[in-house]
Amino acid sequence: MQGVGFRPFVFGLAQRHGLGGFVLNDGTGVVIEVEGAVSDLEAFAAALRDEAPSLARVDAIEVEPLTPSGERAFTIAASTAAGRTALIPPDTATCGDCLRELFDPGDRRHRYPFINCTQCGPRFTIVRSVPYDRPNTTMAGFPLCDECRSEYENPADRRFHAEPVCCPVCGPSLSLPLEQAVALLRGGGIVAVKGLGGWHLACSAANEDAVARLRARKHREDKPFALMTNEPELLAHIDAGERELLESRRRPIVLVPRRTGAPVAAAVAPGNPWLGVLLPYTPLHHLLLADFGGALVMTSGNRSDEPIAYDDEEARERLGGIADAFLGHDRPIHRRCEDSILRASFPIRRSRGFAPEALPLPVAAAQPVLAVGAELKSTFCLARRREAFLSPYLGDLDTELAYSAFRTDIELYLSMLGVVAATIAHDLHPEYLSTKWALEQDAALVGVQHHHAHAAACLAEHGETGPALALVFDGTGFGTDGTLWGGELLRCDLSEFERLAHLRPVPLPGGEAAIREPWRMAASYLELAGRPVPFERWTLVRESLHVNAPLSSGMGRLFDAAAALLGLRETVTFEGQAAVELELLAAQTAAEPYAWRFGDGAELIAAVHDDLAAGRPRPAIAAAFHETIATSAAAACAEAGGPDTVVLSGGTFQNLRLAASTRRNLEALGFRVLTHRLVPPNDGGISYGQAAIAAAG
Ligand code: ZN
Ligand code: ZN
Ligand code: FE
Repeated sequence: MQGVGFRPFVFGLAQRHGLGGFVLNDGTGVVIEVEGAVSDLEAFAAALRDEAPSLARVDAIEVEPLTPSGERAFTIAASTAAGRTALIPPDTATCGDCLRELFDPGDRRHRYPFINCTQCGPRFTIVRSVPYDRPNTTMAGFPLCDECRSEYENPADRRFHAEPVCCPVCGPSLSLPLEQAVALLRGGGIVAVKGLGGWHLACSAANEDAVARLRARKHREDKPFALMTNEPELLAHIDAGERELLESRRRPIVLVPRRTGAPVAAAVAPGNPWLGVLLPYTPLHHLLLADFGGALVMTSGNRSDEPIAYDDEEARERLGGIADAFLGHDRPIHRRCEDSILRASFPIRRSRGFAPEALPLPVAAAQPVLAVGAELKSTFCLARRREAFLSPYLGDLDTELAYSAFRTDIELYLSMLGVVAATIAHDLHPEYLSTKWALEQDAALVGVQHHHAHAAACLAEHGETGPALALVFDGTGFGTDGTLWGGELLRCDLSEFERLAHLRPVPLPGGEAAIREPWRMAASYLELAGRPVPFERWTLVRESLHVNAPLSSGMGRLFDAAAALLGLRETVTFEGQAAVELELLAAQTAAEPYAWRFGDGAELIAAVHDDLAAGRPRPAIAAAFHETIATSAAAACAEAGGPDTVVLSGGTFQNLRLAASTRRNLEALGFRVLTHRLVPPNDGGISYGQAAIAAAG
């Protein structure tokens, strides 16, 4: 890893042991030549591994004896770019030392919004090419002043070879005085703020009008906004694990349970007891929060589901109708990278702070593989030998903006790693733009079934190849029979899969419309179940069964049907919204499962209907529904007769109650259960699964 203070560390170590020689980055890693007494060389080698700086990752040390040349001095030599495998580190939150200087009136960087050092600051998002040296970053246009240069060149300084080092004299500056931005925010205004991997839209988190205006202008109806704060415990209940995630150098958004009476506008997360909270991660954020004196909404600078705006001109164009002012600066962002989102145990979105860190692959790719992912929550993944580089989150690929981001970012990744993709892995869905793009490329193609990719992602992140059973529950994925799948029990390894059980396919009345309008799913299921349909519109919509009603076995649709039947909502504004509300309704209510064998969803909806008609409380019905899916799925695994490992994947498993209950039931039956920890269970993890399958090819 470059730019984490490793060369300065080596320099200091060589000095301590009185060794001569040099250290340099050659693009594949660090090369060190040292000469001196044998005992000193041995002590040096041991310390290399034991005392390495915290951000550095030492994978292997290879030693080769050379003839001494009589060199007494030790130097840091210029980098070379022989290969391009040495990685750029992820962007890292402002460190404690820099934070102290930021608020120290005596420091020459007092209140300087671009303060950084070898342990913190922008990395991935400012790097134009490897090796990671200042001329290859977007800081190239800011020549160091004398003072910064002496820090940069002084091995004893904590800014020794900190590539983005700068100060008020030589570095970037803000495009708007901070006081003006703060005054606007205090007055209920919306301010676009330039971050590390793109622009945010900010407003006061407590100001109902401001948040409502942001929602209206951003065309985002219900999806929760993230909040940036220094005091997360004022807003939410935070356990030790969540606090650790919040404070980690990756600084993700963490989903935490909202405190009742938290000073947060209702419009921040309508009807949702969870809040997405993050701590400030750039010096500019720290200054903004300190001067504003409260929590800020900090949401991606885009219209709903589009990729985040990162180029200044593009931001002014796209966000001009949303923001009242722009708090920008003149340090360009080279790569788009959205905030990451975590629930305590797994990522929902793996982006800033993680990218471009490699994920392991259980089987090495013989040739570089590019896996292009799915359509919603798009990511792609580049596999090189045993390393998989999962891209940041790109949003939904169904907009022209996202599609062009997808193409641009693939080029950036290929050039960063210096590879040409020999193999391209893609989803089987013929209408996904990622599939269409793949089919146009000049490479060997590997088509991967959607749910096989989900299962493979979970296996691969645990370093396993299977065979295993896989419960893959999600909204939609293209099946090998041309219908939509999504309530699947597979037996699979990294090369093949067998579909052992699945939900019985039901017609989606009106196709896509049935996904936006869960009441249509309730109607479709009720009709199959021979129960009355309580929705008046059904008389009209029913006609679509003859015209446009693709078949789906998606678990997401069964959750939608139950949610609509329980009166939670008839239409949704984002994917999974009804299912989330069903989980909230069930909460911790205890309930026995219905007597239901995994398969015919209509029978389960009939049971829900009959309970409701009998006047059973809705939370108990929602709880019974969850328990039924969990126990019946575990029973289906037991019937499969092995193997004894089960992976759980697919967006539906973001439902904590369902995941926990399914795990409990499976473990009671003697199964070993694997769930996601490194990649999202949702479609953001698909490209990694495709890459694992193509690599194992
Ligand atoms: Zn620092
Ligand atoms: Zn300077
Ligand atoms: Fe999926």
